[in-house]
Amino acid sequence: MAAGASRTQYNSAVMSILKVARMGHPVLRTKALAIQRAEIKSPAIQRLIDDLIETMVEYHGVGLAAPQVHVGLRVFVGVLDAREGPGEDERETDPLPLINPEITPIGDDIVEDWEGCLSVPDIRGRVPRAREIKVRAFDRKGERIEIRAHDFPARVIQHETDHLDGVLFLDRMRSLESLTFLDEYSRYWIKD
Ligand code: ZN
Repeated sequence: MAAGASRTQYNSAVMSILKVARMGHPVLRTKALAIQRAEIKSPAIQRLIDDLIETMVEYHGVGLAAPQVHVGLRVFVGVLDAREGPGEDERETDPLPLINPEITPIGDDIVEDWEGCLSVPDIRGRVPRAREIKVRAFDRKGERIEIRAHDFPARVIQHETDHLDGVLFLDRMRSLESLTFLDEYSRYWIKD
């Protein structure tokens, strides 16, 4: 619609690629603060969401949380393909912002798979995560949403929500045995 289109255009004109905090920066170990619902539509929060998306895309990430760009607020953006929305078959490819997310695991299934992180560059490791989750959050309009996700998108949501609590994927590894530099990961561990 016209109003939305012109707003998007305006935003894209002022979007910025932000500097990503690397492991060791204290902001990555600090619990982020909830965003008040009334603040969600403010230009500052809308701009933050746009910048998170632009920064994530620039660095080929699949998720980026506000603490990773030195902002201690509970919001992240993620590529959550194949998540199940209210319509069950809903599929999205645009990065979705989630504000004040709260995760509830569904079932006891834990799966271990590879993860990386823009704040821990060129490292991969295997991390156990709940296979299926439910997440309650606000969307960027301040509406309450609830999403069910499994496998990859569920992993992204758990990884990014951890950032809001000062947790890095390394903390979640059962053992450091699979810790791998990206070159060696590509050489020995990518299945094709
Ligand atoms: Zn990360």
